[in-house]
Amino acid sequence: MKTPTLLSTEQIPETLPRTQAQEQPDSAADVLIVGAGPTGLACGIEAQKAGFKALIIDKGCLVNSIYHYPTNMVFFTTPELLEIGDVPFTTSLAKPTRLEALEYYRRVAEHYHLNIHQYEWVKTITGEDCDFRVATSDRHDAIHDYRARKIVVATGYYDLANELNIPGEDLDKVLHYYRDPHPYFESDVVVIGGKNSAAEAALDLWRHGARVTLVHRGPQMHTHVKYWVRPDIENRIKAGEIGAHFNSTVQEINADCVVLRTSSGTLRLKNDFVFALTGYHPDYDFLRSVGIELATEQLRPVCDPENLESNVPGIYVAGVIVAGSRTNEIFIENGRFHGKLIAAHLSEKLGGGNPNFPLDAT
Ligand SMILES: Cc1cc2nc3c(=O)[nH]c(=O)nc-3n(C[C@H](O)[C@H](O)[C@H](O)COP(=O)(O)OP(=O)(O)OC[C@H]3O[C@@H](n4cnc5c(N)ncnc54)[C@H](O)[C@@H]3O)c2cc1C
Repeated sequence: MKTPTLLSTEQIPETLPRTQAQEQPDSAADVLIVGAGPTGLACGIEAQKAGFKALIIDKGCLVNSIYHYPTNMVFFTTPELLEIGDVPFTTSLAKPTRLEALEYYRRVAEHYHLNIHQYEWVKTITGEDCDFRVATSDRHDAIHDYRARKIVVATGYYDLANELNIPGEDLDKVLHYYRDPHPYFESDVVVIGGKNSAAEAALDLWRHGARVTLVHRGPQMHTHVKYWVRPDIENRIKAGEIGAHFNSTVQEINADCVVLRTSSGTLRLKNDFVFALTGYHPDYDFLRSVGIELATEQLRPVCDPENLESNVPGIYVAGVIVAGSRTNEIFIENGRFHGKLIAAHLSEKLGGGNPNFPLDAT
């Protein structure tokens, strides 16, 4: 991974145009990819294979979303379906663990010598097709400017949790991400949700000594819960080991209790922690700020399904964001192919890779 040349805002003389001040060999690319998730990496690999200079920027670490998944999480997908760049992914058991996936994507990034700038947040994208300007800020609030002929936005959905919009949601004890069970030993924990994340968190917490109550607005656990997890959670509920309230919603969260609305009336439960595992959504404001239109239904970015170019010429969308609010439609298994579609279109538009960019791009 290369470290970009740092230039803080204070260091840039007022009189000097910022882009001129930042003209470093590493600050220009044929294609700049926002997001180093599996999709962003696949886009970088395919663009490089087509002969383009690709730069990938992530506000966190490599595969930042996967890094933040529950510590002991196991994928529902078999390893070969998570492969990118034709690099084989083998695992000791049938399904990869989060740790194995982290290892795999690190090896892929190394194998392809991908140029990835970690811990830089893409804040603005301006300019026009073949002449975009991208501004990022890093962990030290230093600003970095880049130029790119094309942009791929592959920003995922895991950074923004779906809010419950109920009183008490802003309390410190309310969490939208589950990592590991230890801090919740012998605590009263409510898990809100009925899908995989909620089922797995409830089981893991219970197995490590927490007193768990699951609250779900539906009549039962969702049918998409992993086939090996579903009987486990259902049996724990049947045995009364994990409390469950279906057809119920949390109305209010207080420091020491939660208030539920259930089919048999209002219920107050003693409570120490709440995991609101009710899903996540793409950063629609960021997409709009770039000029990408979102369809009224499901907020899908307007794009050509053949090549994923958005309504803004030269800006592509890739990965799970293509599905808008339907975040369960595109995942690694199918999003990993977006890189090939985009690279083919780049070749068509730019006429093949140009290793000398940006010298003769003006
Ligand atoms: C617990 C869990 C288990 C899952 N299991 C599976 C599975 O078994 N199989 C499967 O196929 N899928 C699975 N998924 C879904 C899958 O992980 C996602 O669909 C996939 O990560 C989407 O890939 P992506 O590259 O589009 O987005 P992400 O992996 O989310 O990557 C987006 C990247 O963009 C970065 N970013 C966002 N905004 C900016 C910005 N402004 N500037 C710079 N960087 C930015 C983020 O930091 C992130 O690294 C699972 C999801 C979860 C939550």
